[in-house]
Amino acid sequence: MNLHEYQAKEILRALGVPIPAGEVANTAAEAQAIASRIGRPVVVKAQVHAGGRGKAGGVKLAKDPAEAREKAQAILGMQIKGLTVEKVLVSDAADIVTEAYVGIIMDRASRKPVFMVSPAGGIDIEEVAAKTPEKILKLPVDTRYGLQSYQAMRLGFFLYDDLAKARAAAKIMQQLYTAFVQSGCSLAEINPLVVTPAGDVVALDAKMVIDDNELDRRPGIAALRDESAEAPSEVEARRANLTFIKLDGNVGCCVNGAGLAMATMDLVKYYGGEPANFLDIGGSSSPEKVIAALRIITADRNVKAILFNIFGGITRTDDVANGIVAATKASPLTVPIVIRLTGTNEEIAMKILNENGFSASSDMDEAVKSAVALATGGRAA
Ligand code: GDP
Ligand code: MN
Repeated sequence: MNLHEYQAKEILRALGVPIPAGEVANTAAEAQAIASRIGRPVVVKAQVHAGGRGKAGGVKLAKDPAEAREKAQAILGMQIKGLTVEKVLVSDAADIVTEAYVGIIMDRASRKPVFMVSPAGGIDIEEVAAKTPEKILKLPVDTRYGLQSYQAMRLGFFLYDDLAKARAAAKIMQQLYTAFVQSGCSLAEINPLVVTPAGDVVALDAKMVIDDNELDRRPGIAALRDESAEAPSEVEARRANLTFIKLDGNVGCCVNGAGLAMATMDLVKYYGGEPANFLDIGGSSSPEKVIAALRIITADRNVKAILFNIFGGITRTDDVANGIVAATKASPLTVPIVIRLTGTNEEIAMKILNENGFSASSDMDEAVKSAVALATGGRAA
Protein backbone atom coordinates (compact mmCIF):
# COMPACT_ATOMS: atom_id res chain seq x y z
CA MET A 1 0.00 0.00 0.00
CA ASN A 2 1.27 3.45 -0.90
CA LEU A 3 0.97 6.41 1.42
CA HIS A 4 0.58 9.92 0.12
CA GLU A 5 3.42 12.36 0.71
CA TYR A 6 1.39 14.27 3.30
CA GLN A 7 0.65 11.06 5.24
CA ALA A 8 4.28 9.94 5.20
CA LYS A 9 5.32 13.42 6.32
CA GLU A 10 2.92 13.31 9.27
CA ILE A 11 4.48 10.04 10.43
CA LEU A 12 8.01 11.40 10.04
CA ARG A 13 7.18 14.74 11.66
CA ALA A 14 5.79 12.93 14.71
CA LEU A 15 9.16 11.17 15.04
CA GLY A 16 11.00 14.49 14.93
CA VAL A 17 12.09 14.82 11.29
CA PRO A 18 12.28 18.53 10.33
CA ILE A 19 9.54 19.09 7.73
CA PRO A 20 8.08 22.41 6.55
CA ALA A 21 4.56 23.19 7.77
CA GLY A 22 1.81 22.27 5.35
CA GLU A 23 -1.81 21.19 4.93
CA VAL A 24 -3.83 19.29 2.37
CA ALA A 25 -6.42 20.95 0.12
CA ASN A 26 -9.12 19.44 -2.09
CA THR A 27 -9.99 22.72 -3.81
CA ALA A 28 -8.14 25.80 -5.07
CA ALA A 29 -9.96 27.97 -2.51
CA GLU A 30 -8.72 25.77 0.33
CA ALA A 31 -5.20 25.97 -1.07
CA GLN A 32 -5.43 29.77 -1.01
CA ALA A 33 -6.65 29.73 2.61
CA ILE A 34 -3.78 27.47 3.66
CA ALA A 35 -1.26 29.74 1.91
CA SER A 36 -2.75 32.71 3.80
CA ARG A 37 -2.32 30.89 7.10
CA ILE A 38 1.29 30.01 6.25
CA GLY A 39 1.86 33.66 5.32
CA ARG A 40 4.95 32.97 3.22
CA PRO A 41 5.66 31.67 -0.29
CA VAL A 42 4.40 28.11 -0.63
CA VAL A 43 4.89 25.04 -2.77
CA VAL A 44 1.74 23.36 -4.14
CA LYS A 45 2.21 19.62 -4.64
CA ALA A 46 0.04 16.98 -6.33
CA GLN A 47 -0.82 14.09 -3.98
CA VAL A 48 -0.86 11.00 -6.18
CA HIS A 49 0.82 7.62 -5.89
CA ALA A 50 3.43 8.36 -8.52
CA GLY A 51 6.99 9.59 -8.54
CA GLY A 52 8.32 12.27 -10.86
CA ARG A 53 5.57 14.73 -10.00
CA GLY A 54 8.01 17.62 -10.31
CA LYS A 55 8.87 16.73 -13.91
CA ALA A 56 5.17 16.22 -14.74
CA GLY A 57 4.29 19.75 -13.57
CA GLY A 58 2.72 18.56 -10.32
CA VAL A 59 4.98 20.63 -8.02
CA LYS A 60 4.75 24.43 -8.30
CA LEU A 61 5.99 27.35 -6.23
CA ALA A 62 3.64 30.24 -5.42
CA LYS A 63 4.72 33.57 -3.96
CA ASP A 64 1.36 34.54 -2.40
CA PRO A 65 -2.10 33.08 -1.64
CA ALA A 66 -3.59 34.25 -4.96
CA GLU A 67 -0.88 32.48 -6.88
CA ALA A 68 -1.29 29.38 -4.67
CA ARG A 69 -4.93 29.33 -5.76
CA GLU A 70 -3.92 29.53 -9.45
CA LYS A 71 -1.31 26.78 -9.10
CA ALA A 72 -3.72 24.54 -7.18
CA GLN A 73 -6.34 25.12 -9.88
CA ALA A 74 -3.84 23.98 -12.50
CA ILE A 75 -2.68 20.90 -10.58
CA LEU A 76 -6.06 19.62 -9.30
CA GLY A 77 -7.58 17.35 -11.93
CA MET A 78 -4.26 16.94 -13.71
CA GLN A 79 -3.28 13.43 -14.86
CA ILE A 80 0.09 12.15 -13.67
CA LYS A 81 1.07 8.69 -14.94
CA GLY A 82 -2.61 7.88 -15.50
CA LEU A 83 -3.71 9.01 -12.03
CA THR A 84 -6.01 12.00 -11.50
CA VAL A 85 -4.89 14.51 -8.88
CA GLU A 86 -7.63 14.89 -6.25
CA LYS A 87 -5.63 16.63 -3.52
CA VAL A 88 -2.72 19.01 -3.18
CA LEU A 89 -0.33 19.58 -0.31
CA VAL A 90 0.35 23.27 0.33
CA SER A 91 3.63 23.68 2.22
CA ASP A 92 5.88 26.46 3.38
CA ALA A 93 8.39 26.73 0.52
CA ALA A 94 12.02 26.13 1.42
CA ASP A 95 15.05 27.76 -0.17
CA ILE A 96 17.41 25.07 -1.33
CA VAL A 97 21.22 24.97 -1.29
CA THR A 98 21.73 21.22 -1.90
CA GLU A 99 19.45 18.22 -2.51
CA ALA A 100 20.34 14.76 -1.20
CA TYR A 101 18.62 11.37 -1.43
CA VAL A 102 17.90 9.08 1.52
CA GLY A 103 16.02 5.81 1.17
CA ILE A 104 15.54 2.46 2.88
CA ILE A 105 14.28 -0.60 1.04
CA MET A 106 13.64 -4.11 2.25
CA ASP A 107 16.25 -5.99 0.27
CA ARG A 108 15.19 -9.52 -0.64
CA ALA A 109 18.70 -10.74 -1.45
CA SER A 110 20.24 -9.85 1.92
CA ARG A 111 16.90 -10.13 3.74
CA LYS A 112 17.63 -6.86 5.51
CA PRO A 113 16.56 -3.26 5.32
CA VAL A 114 19.21 -1.49 3.25
CA PHE A 115 19.90 2.24 3.38
CA MET A 116 20.73 3.99 0.14
CA VAL A 117 21.93 7.55 0.35
CA SER A 118 23.38 9.99 -2.14
CA PRO A 119 24.51 13.61 -2.00
CA ALA A 120 23.25 13.92 -5.59
CA GLY A 121 19.54 13.75 -4.77
CA GLY A 122 16.52 15.46 -6.28
CA ILE A 123 14.54 14.60 -9.36
CA ASP A 124 17.26 12.73 -11.24
CA ILE A 125 18.21 10.07 -8.70
CA GLU A 126 17.47 7.24 -11.18
CA GLU A 127 20.04 8.74 -13.52
CA VAL A 128 22.58 8.99 -10.69
CA ALA A 129 22.04 5.30 -9.92
CA ALA A 130 22.49 4.36 -13.58
CA LYS A 131 25.42 6.61 -14.53
CA THR A 132 27.36 7.38 -11.33
CA PRO A 133 26.64 4.55 -8.88
CA GLU A 134 29.72 5.56 -6.85
CA LYS A 135 27.67 8.54 -5.64
CA ILE A 136 25.35 6.14 -3.79
CA LEU A 137 26.24 4.47 -0.50
CA LYS A 138 24.40 1.26 0.39
CA LEU A 139 24.36 0.10 3.98
CA PRO A 140 22.44 -2.94 5.26
CA VAL A 141 20.97 -2.88 8.77
CA ASP A 142 20.87 -5.85 11.11
CA THR A 143 17.32 -5.70 12.48
CA ARG A 144 18.42 -7.32 15.75
CA TYR A 145 20.37 -4.18 16.64
CA GLY A 146 18.73 -1.52 14.49
CA LEU A 147 20.69 1.32 12.93
CA GLN A 148 23.80 1.84 15.06
CA SER A 149 25.00 5.39 15.79
CA TYR A 150 28.28 4.86 13.96
CA GLN A 151 26.38 3.64 10.91
CA ALA A 152 24.07 6.65 11.01
CA MET A 153 27.11 8.96 11.22
CA ARG A 154 28.73 7.16 8.28
CA LEU A 155 25.59 7.81 6.23
CA GLY A 156 25.53 11.44 7.42
CA PHE A 157 29.16 12.01 6.43
CA PHE A 158 28.54 10.49 3.01
CA LEU A 159 26.08 13.33 2.42
CA TYR A 160 27.83 16.25 4.18
CA ASP A 161 31.44 17.10 5.09
CA ASP A 162 30.27 19.50 7.75
CA LEU A 163 29.92 17.89 11.21
CA ALA A 164 26.74 19.71 12.23
CA LYS A 165 24.97 18.76 9.04
CA ALA A 166 26.24 15.16 9.17
CA ARG A 167 24.89 14.90 12.72
CA ALA A 168 21.55 16.38 11.72
CA ALA A 169 21.35 13.90 8.83
CA ALA A 170 22.34 10.99 11.10
CA LYS A 171 19.47 11.84 13.42
CA ILE A 172 17.07 11.89 10.46
CA MET A 173 18.40 8.45 9.36
CA GLN A 174 17.50 7.07 12.81
CA GLN A 175 14.04 8.62 12.64
CA LEU A 176 13.45 7.31 9.14
CA TYR A 177 14.57 3.84 10.20
CA THR A 178 12.15 3.95 13.16
CA ALA A 179 9.33 4.96 10.80
CA PHE A 180 10.28 2.15 8.41
CA VAL A 181 10.09 -0.51 11.12
CA GLN A 182 7.10 0.86 13.02
CA SER A 183 4.95 1.30 9.93
CA GLY A 184 5.84 -2.04 8.28
CA CYS A 185 7.41 -0.44 5.22
CA SER A 186 8.94 -2.11 2.21
CA LEU A 187 10.28 1.32 1.22
CA ALA A 188 10.74 4.67 2.97
CA GLU A 189 12.34 7.57 1.19
CA ILE A 190 13.18 11.25 1.61
CA ASN A 191 14.05 12.88 -1.71
CA PRO A 192 15.09 15.60 -1.56
CA LEU A 193 16.65 16.02 1.84
CA VAL A 194 17.78 19.62 1.51
CA VAL A 195 20.15 22.04 3.17
CA THR A 196 18.65 25.53 3.49
CA PRO A 197 20.63 28.81 3.36
CA ALA A 198 20.42 28.87 7.19
CA GLY A 199 22.23 25.49 7.23
CA ASP A 200 19.23 23.45 8.36
CA VAL A 201 18.72 19.90 7.05
CA VAL A 202 15.06 19.50 6.06
CA ALA A 203 12.93 16.80 4.37
CA LEU A 204 10.97 18.27 1.43
CA ASP A 205 9.45 15.08 0.07
CA ALA A 206 8.58 11.73 1.65
CA LYS A 207 7.44 8.43 0.28
CA MET A 208 6.42 5.30 2.16
CA VAL A 209 5.25 1.98 0.75
CA ILE A 210 3.69 -0.36 3.31
CA ASP A 211 4.01 -4.13 2.97
CA ASP A 212 0.37 -5.28 2.72
CA ASN A 213 1.16 -8.25 4.96
CA GLU A 214 1.96 -5.81 7.78
CA LEU A 215 -1.42 -4.09 7.69
CA ASP A 216 -3.51 -6.49 9.78
CA ARG A 217 -1.57 -5.68 12.94
CA ARG A 218 -1.43 -1.96 12.17
CA PRO A 219 -5.04 -0.73 11.91
CA GLY A 220 -3.88 2.88 12.21
CA ILE A 221 -1.71 2.55 9.11
CA ALA A 222 -4.34 0.49 7.25
CA ALA A 223 -6.82 3.33 7.83
CA LEU A 224 -4.57 5.64 5.78
CA ARG A 225 -5.47 3.79 2.59
CA ASP A 226 -6.92 6.16 -0.02
CA GLU A 227 -8.97 4.01 -2.37
CA SER A 228 -9.79 7.00 -4.58
CA ALA A 229 -6.10 7.09 -5.51
CA GLU A 230 -5.85 3.39 -6.40
CA ALA A 231 -6.68 1.52 -9.61
CA PRO A 232 -10.39 0.52 -9.38
CA SER A 233 -9.56 -3.06 -10.43
CA GLU A 234 -7.10 -3.45 -7.55
CA VAL A 235 -9.62 -2.05 -5.07
CA GLU A 236 -12.28 -4.52 -6.20
CA ALA A 237 -9.84 -7.42 -6.14
CA ARG A 238 -8.79 -6.66 -2.60
CA ARG A 239 -12.43 -6.48 -1.47
CA ALA A 240 -13.07 -9.89 -3.07
CA ASN A 241 -9.96 -11.34 -1.40
CA LEU A 242 -8.19 -11.93 -4.70
CA THR A 243 -4.51 -11.33 -5.31
CA PHE A 244 -4.49 -9.24 -8.45
CA ILE A 245 -1.78 -7.31 -10.26
CA LYS A 246 -2.55 -5.58 -13.50
CA LEU A 247 -0.08 -6.05 -16.35
CA ASP A 248 0.07 -4.72 -19.91
CA GLY A 249 -0.70 -7.78 -22.06
CA ASN A 250 -3.97 -9.11 -23.54
CA VAL A 251 -4.41 -12.61 -22.11
CA GLY A 252 -6.55 -12.31 -18.98
CA CYS A 253 -5.48 -15.01 -16.54
CA CYS A 254 -7.55 -16.50 -13.73
CA VAL A 255 -5.61 -19.08 -11.76
CA ASN A 256 -5.69 -20.68 -8.32
CA GLY A 257 -2.47 -20.53 -6.36
CA ALA A 258 0.41 -18.10 -6.75
CA GLY A 259 2.82 -20.74 -8.02
CA LEU A 260 0.44 -21.94 -10.72
CA ALA A 261 -0.30 -18.31 -11.61
CA MET A 262 3.42 -17.68 -12.13
CA ALA A 263 3.80 -20.88 -14.16
CA THR A 264 0.78 -19.90 -16.27
CA MET A 265 2.25 -16.48 -17.00
CA ASP A 266 5.54 -18.12 -17.94
CA LEU A 267 3.76 -20.45 -20.35
CA VAL A 268 1.75 -17.60 -21.88
CA LYS A 269 5.04 -15.82 -22.56
CA TYR A 270 6.64 -19.03 -23.83
CA TYR A 271 3.94 -19.32 -26.48
CA GLY A 272 4.43 -15.71 -27.55
CA GLY A 273 1.61 -14.12 -25.59
CA GLU A 274 1.51 -11.40 -22.96
CA PRO A 275 -0.47 -11.81 -19.72
CA ALA A 276 -2.90 -8.98 -18.92
CA ASN A 277 -2.70 -9.67 -15.21
CA PHE A 278 -1.63 -11.87 -12.37
CA LEU A 279 -4.74 -13.15 -10.61
CA ASP A 280 -4.79 -15.74 -7.87
CA ILE A 281 -8.29 -16.70 -6.73
CA GLY A 282 -6.74 -18.64 -3.86
CA GLY A 283 -7.77 -21.92 -2.29
CA SER A 284 -11.36 -22.95 -1.45
CA SER A 285 -12.70 -20.65 -4.13
CA SER A 286 -16.38 -19.91 -3.93
CA PRO A 287 -18.41 -19.12 -7.07
CA GLU A 288 -18.57 -15.50 -5.78
CA LYS A 289 -14.80 -15.17 -6.03
CA VAL A 290 -14.85 -16.44 -9.59
CA ILE A 291 -17.61 -13.97 -10.47
CA ALA A 292 -15.56 -11.09 -9.04
CA ALA A 293 -12.46 -12.31 -10.87
CA LEU A 294 -14.25 -12.42 -14.21
CA ARG A 295 -15.72 -8.98 -13.66
CA ILE A 296 -12.26 -7.55 -12.96
CA ILE A 297 -10.63 -9.28 -15.94
CA THR A 298 -13.35 -8.30 -18.41
CA ALA A 299 -13.29 -4.66 -17.25
CA ASP A 300 -9.80 -4.41 -18.78
CA ARG A 301 -10.26 -3.36 -22.40
CA ASN A 302 -6.87 -4.78 -23.36
CA VAL A 303 -8.05 -8.32 -22.64
CA LYS A 304 -8.63 -10.23 -25.90
CA ALA A 305 -8.95 -13.73 -24.45
CA ILE A 306 -9.51 -15.17 -20.99
CA LEU A 307 -7.65 -18.16 -19.68
CA PHE A 308 -8.80 -20.13 -16.63
CA ASN A 309 -6.21 -22.47 -15.23
CA ILE A 310 -7.47 -24.34 -12.17
CA PHE A 311 -5.79 -27.15 -10.32
CA GLY A 312 -8.41 -28.55 -7.97
CA GLY A 313 -7.04 -29.52 -4.58
CA ILE A 314 -8.79 -27.67 -1.79
CA THR A 315 -10.32 -25.62 -4.56
CA ARG A 316 -13.27 -27.52 -5.98
CA THR A 317 -13.33 -27.26 -9.75
CA ASP A 318 -17.16 -27.51 -9.72
CA ASP A 319 -17.26 -24.32 -7.62
CA VAL A 320 -15.14 -22.64 -10.26
CA ALA A 321 -17.35 -24.00 -13.06
CA ASN A 322 -20.49 -22.71 -11.29
CA GLY A 323 -18.80 -19.33 -10.92
CA ILE A 324 -17.99 -19.18 -14.62
CA VAL A 325 -21.56 -20.10 -15.57
CA ALA A 326 -23.13 -17.61 -13.13
CA ALA A 327 -20.80 -14.77 -14.09
CA THR A 328 -21.26 -15.20 -17.83
CA LYS A 329 -25.05 -15.48 -17.45
CA ALA A 330 -25.12 -12.18 -15.57
CA SER A 331 -22.90 -10.44 -18.13
CA PRO A 332 -22.17 -12.37 -21.32
CA LEU A 333 -18.56 -12.42 -22.44
CA THR A 334 -17.42 -10.41 -25.44
CA VAL A 335 -14.06 -12.18 -25.68
CA PRO A 336 -13.27 -15.90 -26.02
CA ILE A 337 -12.61 -17.96 -22.93
CA VAL A 338 -10.37 -21.00 -22.60
CA ILE A 339 -10.84 -23.22 -19.58
CA ARG A 340 -8.41 -25.74 -18.24
CA LEU A 341 -9.27 -27.54 -15.06
CA THR A 342 -8.23 -30.72 -13.38
CA GLY A 343 -8.42 -32.24 -9.92
CA THR A 344 -11.15 -32.25 -7.28
CA ASN A 345 -14.61 -32.83 -8.80
CA GLU A 346 -13.26 -32.52 -12.32
CA GLU A 347 -16.02 -34.71 -13.87
CA ILE A 348 -18.76 -32.66 -12.24
CA ALA A 349 -17.12 -29.43 -13.38
CA MET A 350 -16.78 -30.63 -16.98
CA LYS A 351 -20.44 -31.66 -16.98
CA ILE A 352 -21.58 -28.26 -15.65
CA LEU A 353 -19.50 -26.44 -18.24
CA ASN A 354 -20.55 -28.64 -21.18
CA GLU A 355 -24.23 -28.33 -20.27
CA ASN A 356 -23.82 -24.57 -20.37
CA GLY A 357 -22.09 -24.41 -23.71
CA PHE A 358 -18.46 -24.21 -22.59
CA SER A 359 -15.71 -26.56 -23.54
CA ALA A 360 -12.91 -27.29 -21.14
CA SER A 361 -9.84 -29.44 -21.15
CA SER A 362 -7.47 -30.77 -18.55
CA ASP A 363 -4.33 -30.05 -20.62
CA MET A 364 -2.53 -26.89 -19.51
CA ASP A 365 -0.22 -26.74 -22.50
CA GLU A 366 -3.05 -26.88 -25.03
CA ALA A 367 -5.14 -24.38 -23.09
CA VAL A 368 -2.38 -21.79 -22.92
CA LYS A 369 -1.59 -22.21 -26.62
CA SER A 370 -5.25 -21.69 -27.49
CA ALA A 371 -5.61 -18.61 -25.31
CA VAL A 372 -2.51 -17.01 -26.84
CA ALA A 373 -3.73 -17.78 -30.36
CA LEU A 374 -7.17 -16.33 -29.66
CA ALA A 375 -5.72 -13.20 -28.07
CA THR A 376 -3.56 -12.54 -31.10
CA GLY A 377 -6.52 -12.90 -33.45
CA GLY A 378 -5.85 -16.47 -34.51
CA ARG A 379 -7.84 -19.64 -33.94
CA ALA A 380 -7.74 -21.91 -30.97
CA ALA A 381 -5.05 -24.57 -31.11
P1 GDP B 1 8.73 14.45 -6.99
O1 GDP B 1 9.18 15.05 -8.29
O2 GDP B 1 7.45 13.71 -7.14
O3 GDP B 1 9.78 13.63 -6.34
O4 GDP B 1 8.39 15.71 -6.01
P2 GDP B 1 9.33 16.50 -4.98
O5 GDP B 1 8.52 16.87 -3.81
O6 GDP B 1 10.58 15.77 -4.69
O7 GDP B 1 9.65 17.85 -5.76
C1 GDP B 1 10.45 17.85 -6.93
C2 GDP B 1 11.43 18.99 -6.87
O8 GDP B 1 10.75 20.22 -6.67
C3 GDP B 1 12.43 18.89 -5.73
O9 GDP B 1 13.52 18.06 -6.04
C4 GDP B 1 12.81 20.33 -5.56
O10 GDP B 1 13.84 20.67 -6.48
C5 GDP B 1 11.56 21.10 -5.93
N1 GDP B 1 10.87 21.50 -4.70
C6 GDP B 1 10.03 20.79 -3.93
N2 GDP B 1 9.67 21.48 -2.83
C7 GDP B 1 10.30 22.66 -2.89
C8 GDP B 1 10.36 23.82 -2.04
O11 GDP B 1 9.77 23.91 -0.98
N3 GDP B 1 11.15 24.86 -2.47
C9 GDP B 1 11.85 24.83 -3.63
N4 GDP B 1 12.61 25.87 -3.97
N5 GDP B 1 11.83 23.75 -4.46
C10 GDP B 1 11.07 22.69 -4.09
MN1 MN C 1 10.83 13.65 -4.64
